[in-house]
Amino acid sequence: MILNYSKEQLIDLFKSLKLPQFRVNQVLEWVYNKGCKSFYEMTNISRELQETLNKNYYIYRPNIIKTSKSIDGTIKFLLELQDKNTIETVFIPETNRNTICISSQVGCAVGCKFCNTGYNGFKRNLTVEEIVSQVLIVKDYLNSWKTKDKFITNIVVMGMGEPLFNWNNVNIALENLQIGKMQSISPKHITVSTSGIVPVLSKIINKFNYNLAISLHAPNDEIRSSIMPINKFYPLKDLLNICRTYNKLITFEYLMLSGINDSEKDAKQLIKLLHGIKCKINLIKFNSWEGDVFSCSSIDKIKDFQILLNKSGIIATIRCSRGQDIMAACGQLQSQNGLIIK
Ligand code: SAH
Ligand code: SF4
Repeated sequence: MILNYSKEQLIDLFKSLKLPQFRVNQVLEWVYNKGCKSFYEMTNISRELQETLNKNYYIYRPNIIKTSKSIDGTIKFLLELQDKNTIETVFIPETNRNTICISSQVGCAVGCKFCNTGYNGFKRNLTVEEIVSQVLIVKDYLNSWKTKDKFITNIVVMGMGEPLFNWNNVNIALENLQIGKMQSISPKHITVSTSGIVPVLSKIINKFNYNLAISLHAPNDEIRSSIMPINKFYPLKDLLNICRTYNKLITFEYLMLSGINDSEKDAKQLIKLLHGIKCKINLIKFNSWEGDVFSCSSIDKIKDFQILLNKSGIIATIRCSRGQDIMAACGQLQSQNGLIIK
């Protein structure tokens, strides 16, 4: 439960225990930089403090129920929380970087029609320790606390859940994951993806330090509302007005759904819609799951769409999905153990 605290909260706590502030830094260094799972491993703090901490706190790790490895090297972890709920975390190794995709909630209430997580409904928000421990447990697993080549270099909050519906905890977790000299991950390498929760976004956008990715997926309200019910509450006009106030580059994610949002007309409408916003577009291939009602646009169609966007001056890339064979790709994550494909 020590992982639940922000640095400021821990400072207050240590003050109340009449302990000096430098002890906080030492403990955080052990926990976030060296991967300590027991206070007794913290050799530069007194036995007395080790005992006090051990009596009152613990350093959380979820249980790894299952790991599935893709032919492309992606590893998916099915993790069991203390209340027996399960979540998924995905490790994606690449030549120049190693990315971890973390979950922010058990399930998701947003209910996008194309998403397996949304299809399975919402259970609860994750706590700070449940969020940070996804990163720590992957580091334990890779034994990357010591070997430099296996370091996690990037974090994407693109797993299960809508991070802005749990922003307090996600925000503290991301700050904590920047603690430590060697293992820290800079905000430049952290991406938060959201379906566009307008009231939360408008509150945080001015001080938003991370890369912002917005799941757009449609060129107009009619199509967007039909695949993302949240659009009825927070329509495009409101969402994009906030985006216009942001002075950094925004990545818009655009799922290519055959016959739904992939025509030439849709591309032209999208170009108009995003006029004046500093952005790039990630065209995402739809990943299929059991029970879905969509199919992915053909690769030719996706390329035609990309060319139209590029010609208009918008940078558009096609995202290749990783870990599809183990259902670890975007939108395929869900927490029902029985449905996981090995
Ligand atoms: N809730 C957040 C973050 C988690 S979803 C969000 O919606 O942005 C991460 C990304 O996966 C989103 O862009 C989402 O639209 C996309 N996604 C969902 N289902 C998908 C599927 N079946 N195939 C490909 N991408 C999908
Ligand atoms: Fe939730 Fe994101 Fe899936 Fe939509 S795409 S249901 S917001 S996890």
